[in-house]
Order: sequence, then structure tokens, then C-alpha cells
Amino acid sequence: MSKKSRLICACCEGEIGIDEPVYYGDEKTYYEGKPLCEACYFEDEPVARVYYGRDDYPHIISLTRNETEGDFWVKWKSTDPWRGYYEVYSDVFSRIFSDAILAYHESEQMLKDLNDRLIELYSEKGIEFARVFTRTSNIFSTGFDFWVRKEPEEILKAGLILEQVKREVNYDDPVYSTGILFDRETFKELQRIFSGKYQIRDEMDLLKLVSERGEDLVKEILESRQK
Ligand SMILES: [Zn+2]
Repeated sequence: MSKKSRLICACCEGEIGIDEPVYYGDEKTYYEGKPLCEACYFEDEPVARVYYGRDDYPHIISLTRNETEGDFWVKWKSTDPWRGYYEVYSDVFSRIFSDAILAYHESEQMLKDLNDRLIELYSEKGIEFARVFTRTSNIFSTGFDFWVRKEPEEILKAGLILEQVKREVNYDDPVYSTGILFDRETFKELQRIFSGKYQIRDEMDLLKLVSERGEDLVKEILESRQK
């Protein structure tokens, strides 16, 4: 028996046939430098898509491939055993905006407007930028970032335009930070119950109140119901 050792795919753990090509995980990926079979190398689902400037073609980052040539890379951050998200890193770009696109939420259209407007203005002003979309463990939520070249004047210019666009699209309207953790009806109801007592503009206010008041808050809700 010829003892020519066959390689084992680091991903599916299948043997890579003698006649089959061997791939190695791209630099700055989870499988960096590890042998992979063709299917695992190419068919690994992207965890991030990077769009440079006005490009509508994504450069993907998966656990095996990195089409950004190392401009960007990702690491999984677990928030608990069930949930997490991919954190994006770069040495040459700096993140100036980060949010999450929530499917079917009111903020979806606002973020689309912000996206379109930033692309327009950054292109006009010759700012080099990239957008990064990342997968999360919640299928309804996608990470959405804007990055610009890591140069102080670029970051400053881009930041000023960002502030202008945020005002244009009403980014800070509290409606966009509700309906995420609490359904809107419940949120409105709690706002009503606590009106005049606590100021609750968005879900963060409510969460803060919950963590500060704890059990007492539940009592207050029950008391208000008995009236
Ligand atoms: Zn494989």
C-alpha cells in the first residue's frame, strides 16, 4: 500500500482525495493555513460582506476565505451559548458608524436612507469608505457598519458628514430604539403607567429603570392596574 499520506479537510474532516485539489484557509480566517477540500473552501457561508465605495459587488469573508486581502477580518463574539455576532476588525480602516438592521422594524427604512445618503456624500467628497454587513445569530438582525480610511482628516471629514446625515434621517428619534426588546404596545403601556414618575424615552431608559428598581417596579405596575 502506498503510504502517500492523504490530507484531512480541517472543516468537514473528510479525506481529500489524491486527485482532488487541496485548498488552504485564507489569511486572517478561522481556518487560516489549514487544509480544506474544495467544497468547504468555496461553499462556506459568508459571515461578512464588504462593499468598497460605490461597489455593488461584495467581497466576502467566511471562515475559510477572505476576499478583502486582509483589509478586514472577523472574530466570533458569543454573548451566551446561544447567541453572538461577528466582530469586524481592520488595521487600515476605522469604523465610524455601527448599527444593526432589524428586519421589519421601522428603523430599516431610516437606515437605508442613511446608507444611500452617506454613499452619495462620501463619494462626492472623495472619502474612501467601505460598508460591512455581518451575520448575527438572530436571522432578523444584520450588523451594519461604515468604515473610512484610518487617517485623522478622513475620519474627521466623514464624521462631520455622518452627523449631518443622522440629523437628515432623524437617526436619534426614539422610535428607532423601541420595539426591539419590548413590543411597541407593551412599551407604550409601560410609558403610560410610569408617566409623570419616570422619564422613559426609549428601551434603554426602561431597561435602566428595571435594573435600578427591580421588584419594586413590578409592584408599581400591579398597583397601577388595581386603580
Ligand atoms: Zn471539507
